[in-house]
Amino acid sequence: MRKVTIAKGDGIGPEIMEAVLKIIKKSNAPIDFEEIEIGEKVYLGGNTSGISEASWEVIRKNKVLLKAPITTPQGGGYKSLNVTMRKALGLFANIRPCVSLHPFVATNFPNLDVVIVRENEEDLYAGIEHQQTDEVVQCLKLISRPGCEKIIRYAFEYAQNYGRKKVTCFSKDNIMKQTDGLFHQVFKEIAMEYPNIEANHMIIDIGTAYLADHPEKFDVIVTSNLYGDIISDVAAQIAGSVGLAGSVNIGNECSMFEAIHGSAPDIAGQNIANPSGLLQAAIAMLYHLGYAAEATKIQNAWLKTLEEGIHTADIYNDKLSKQLVGTSEFADAVIANF
Ligand code: NAD
Repeated sequence: MRKVTIAKGDGIGPEIMEAVLKIIKKSNAPIDFEEIEIGEKVYLGGNTSGISEASWEVIRKNKVLLKAPITTPQGGGYKSLNVTMRKALGLFANIRPCVSLHPFVATNFPNLDVVIVRENEEDLYAGIEHQQTDEVVQCLKLISRPGCEKIIRYAFEYAQNYGRKKVTCFSKDNIMKQTDGLFHQVFKEIAMEYPNIEANHMIIDIGTAYLADHPEKFDVIVTSNLYGDIISDVAAQIAGSVGLAGSVNIGNECSMFEAIHGSAPDIAGQNIANPSGLLQAAIAMLYHLGYAAEATKIQNAWLKTLEEGIHTADIYNDKLSKQLVGTSEFADAVIANF
């Protein structure tokens, strides 16, 4: 049995995690779960990092973490645990595939199939933020050549391994000539090592506008941390819902699998959240661990459930949907389709 660390998180976290664990267990994947408590309860218990030393040890021991979204309390010196984890565990690559499930899930973009490869440790998310004077605060944008090389090479390797044809770089180097300029420069250098993959560059603002209007023109997008976070929400939402997309955080030692969305406090505790984003992450985790048969079984059952029109509220559509279900009933429907 392979042991995996799980964190049930905050808001809708426990509900979607329960649904996903039920599905994994029924798939007979040979996995044992070791639970840790992180997030809101730990923060509010007085630990401003949101995680205890004992939890770090469990994560490092098991190396693979399936994590539901957590809430970072506003203000008060609380550090974002998501950012801390990615940095502390060296999770340099964040892969966020977004795909339309046309004609079963309503979308204006039936041919959307884009993978966002987001740098995960640097940029404005490096956590270097401070008060300069009473009226001025500063956040430093940190971009390094090794950081750019790692993520851009990862994007081209991903494209090569998964039969993708094109990698597009998004940056804003017309304004941030040094930081985004370095990202773009390294992109041009590394693109030359992959002559069989088309490479192009767009300024992030018009690139995002184009992504929101012609997503089918994009294949793999590589970009820095903040831009990647934003454009993946855009891509997932126009594919159908932010509740549909999963995310993989990869490092050399450890990996973390999560939904792209947050803890959705507005719908927490109502059994209405879509567990699909976390389920997609869990499926990627099973492939990562070598349990391809179980991963494929769950993916096919999930697709069949959506094709049958069994939909949670976020994707429910009068014309396409047949049955409106809650989080836990959606999980039961997936299991029934094994
Ligand atoms: P959010 O992603 O939680 O929610 C945005 C909107 O999408 C809400 O209307 C919500 O109801 C809806 N939504 C999100 N997931 C859904 C799902 N699975 N099914 C149906 N609808 C869904 O973004 P937010 O409201 O800006 O953030 C809430 C909290 O989440 C904040 O504390 C933020 O810091 C945290 N957050 C955590 C993570 C993470 O843990 N990885 C990521 C992003 C945000």
